[in-house]
Amino acid sequence: MGRSVMVTGGNRGIGLAVATALAADGDRVAVTHRDSTPPDGLLGVRAEMTDPESIDTAFRQAEDAHGPVEVLVVNAGITRDKLLLRMDEQDFTDVVDVNLHGAFRTVRRAVRGMLRARWGRIVLISSMTYAYGAPGQVNYASAKAGMLGMARSLAWELGPRNITVNVVAPGLIDTAMSHGITADRRAHLLSITPLGRAGETADVAAAVRYLAGESGRFVTGAVLPVSGGLGLGG
Ligand code: NDP
Repeated sequence: MGRSVMVTGGNRGIGLAVATALAADGDRVAVTHRDSTPPDGLLGVRAEMTDPESIDTAFRQAEDAHGPVEVLVVNAGITRDKLLLRMDEQDFTDVVDVNLHGAFRTVRRAVRGMLRARWGRIVLISSMTYAYGAPGQVNYASAKAGMLGMARSLAWELGPRNITVNVVAPGLIDTAMSHGITADRRAHLLSITPLGRAGETADVAAAVRYLAGESGRFVTGAVLPVSGGLGLGG
């Protein structure tokens, strides 16, 4: 297929698995990273999701090397879990700034080329937390739920130009992020996951590959849970 792809936060975890899977299909893949060394075989471009200028620079570098971005995967995200009364303004704002506002900044930059090409694929990595909520995650769940409204509005705006916008909502996936939760919390999450186990980053990559690929061409504004059933019905 050989498309120009951008994956935010593609230096590790789920983003790296997505980037690697798409590169294995023959796509030209750029990944944003910050302080880390970019992964082998992928084009690393530095970007900070809270800084629109750095996002613009990263896109310019990727587009110089690979051509206008045709597939965007918005994956970079953070958690800062605290119960409501301990969660201060900064904890809320920072999480929304990276996860939701960062998605807005990145999509807004990416669609320029897609609109011109009258073709594009956008996948936002949300979380099943959007549906089931979680104590300590008022900031994160708000941001991840916001991504659904964003995707559905964008599906309307961009559909006429043959640009699809979908959401992947992972459940518990083994990465550095999920290793940060307590053993009790992990046990609870597994107890409400019908498949009774955590997923792998490759499971999320497979869903992104479908939505960004030819098979997913008639799917837009959808939310695809990759959660072992966690949050089903949400
Ligand atoms: P990791 O913590 O392993 O990776 C997070 C990625 O986001 C890193 O590449 C990190 O870059 C990047 N990032 C974080 N903050 C910023 C920022 N301000 N600017 C630029 N890049 C940033 O997380 P996962 O791989 O687990 O998660 C990936 C996505 O999947 C996230 O959106 C997460 O919310 C979502 N998700 C994960 C689940 C899980 O169980 N793991 C479950 C549900 C959703 P750096 O290396 O520089 O820090």
